Amino acid sequence: MQILTPKLAIHGGKRAIPDGTLKKWPPIDDSDRKAVLDSLDGANHAFGPNCIAFEKEFAGWNGNRYAITTNSGTAALHMCIVACGCSTGDEVIVPAYSWSSSATCILHHSCIPVFVDIDYETMNIDPEKIEQAITPKTRAIIAVHLHGLPAPMDEIMAIARKHNLRVIEDACQAHGAKYKGRKVGTIGHCSAFSFNQNKSLCSGEGGMFVTDDEEMLRAARSLWSFGETRTPAESRDYHVYALGWMYRNNDLTAAFGRSQLRKLDGFLSAQRENAQALAEELRGTPGLILPTEPAGYEHNWYNYTLRFDMEALGHLDDASDFRYRIVKALQAEGVRTDVWQSFILPAMTVFQAKNGFGHGHPWSSPQARRSVDYSTAQYRMAQRHCDTHTGMTRPLRAPNGPDVARLTGAAIRKVMENVRYL
Ligand SMILES: *Cc1c(COP(=O)(O)O)cnc(C)c1O
Repeated sequence: MQILTPKLAIHGGKRAIPDGTLKKWPPIDDSDRKAVLDSLDGANHAFGPNCIAFEKEFAGWNGNRYAITTNSGTAALHMCIVACGCSTGDEVIVPAYSWSSSATCILHHSCIPVFVDIDYETMNIDPEKIEQAITPKTRAIIAVHLHGLPAPMDEIMAIARKHNLRVIEDACQAHGAKYKGRKVGTIGHCSAFSFNQNKSLCSGEGGMFVTDDEEMLRAARSLWSFGETRTPAESRDYHVYALGWMYRNNDLTAAFGRSQLRKLDGFLSAQRENAQALAEELRGTPGLILPTEPAGYEHNWYNYTLRFDMEALGHLDDASDFRYRIVKALQAEGVRTDVWQSFILPAMTVFQAKNGFGHGHPWSSPQARRSVDYSTAQYRMAQRHCDTHTGMTRPLRAPNGPDVARLTGAAIRKVMENVRYL
């Protein structure tokens, strides 16, 4: 008897998810239109009243004393480096797998990134490997809450206390995620959020620096606006006290951000409900490793990241190639998924070539340690994750509901049940 299998779309079968099923992100309604048009009709399109209100409202929402709104999450990260008092040649610890600017923000201040491998299970920095990366030059640790799962903050804060280091939270993907009941961005010394198009709070581009420390606020604010010490809302003396950039947000963007912030809790609970529906659909699928949410951790499900069990699938030797074959088959079914970062951070040319500003700076500066080593073999778990993952953001985003998540899950199951034909 012949066993009938549903034909995969990549082999000419019917797509599991019809075109046009996924709705666009973010959902826009009349409150967004009014907020942006009111700003347009206002008198200040630079750092205007919406920027000041956005800072106050975001700080209130997250539970921080202070906030500074920026034109990107990367700008806010650079401000964190400065707020932590890092200067030329100082070392900052960062996970070997993240968005590029989790590490390049360190270079922006002539400091040296030192990478630490990740824990394959959580995809976040492996706390057991942090201490061996600490040297007399280390000043700070960047805890990235990757894909919306908080980093192991108790362990990180304990190591920081022991070695007198500062902790920066890269919360650019983790709005609303919680660690032991506390919102991310309230645990370390200062934190950065992003409001880029794809994030759980979207204002097009934009970001937020947050802290509870007044000294850190002052240092970050000086970098943010030309190296001046007074904000555009105060009477400025236009004197540059330290090296500064122009990282300010603008009123139109802040107006959009504010109106989206009012809906953020609703977006996040939709994301959570959708992730649960997807997980129910996928549980037990052979060859798949589902993302974890350990006890005490509350994921925001910014990016639902799957890994393929290449040992079970018999593709240990060609893991990345086979992963791309599966991803193509998923995309053919209409699953909106893709490989997120295809390089671990230390493998990127800027680090391998050790050339940030020319003449080998900052690694060549007299203050820098000579023995900083970026050989990629040190980051086995990051590489394994890199080679075996595929991620999803849009299928979980409002206004898509659990029906879309379940359809997505069924499409993934269809491919995995027929993976031997790929
Ligand atoms: C998006 C992102 C950033 C940078 O944010 P931008 O607003 O794009 O500058 C930094 N870190 C992580 C983990 C991110 O996902």
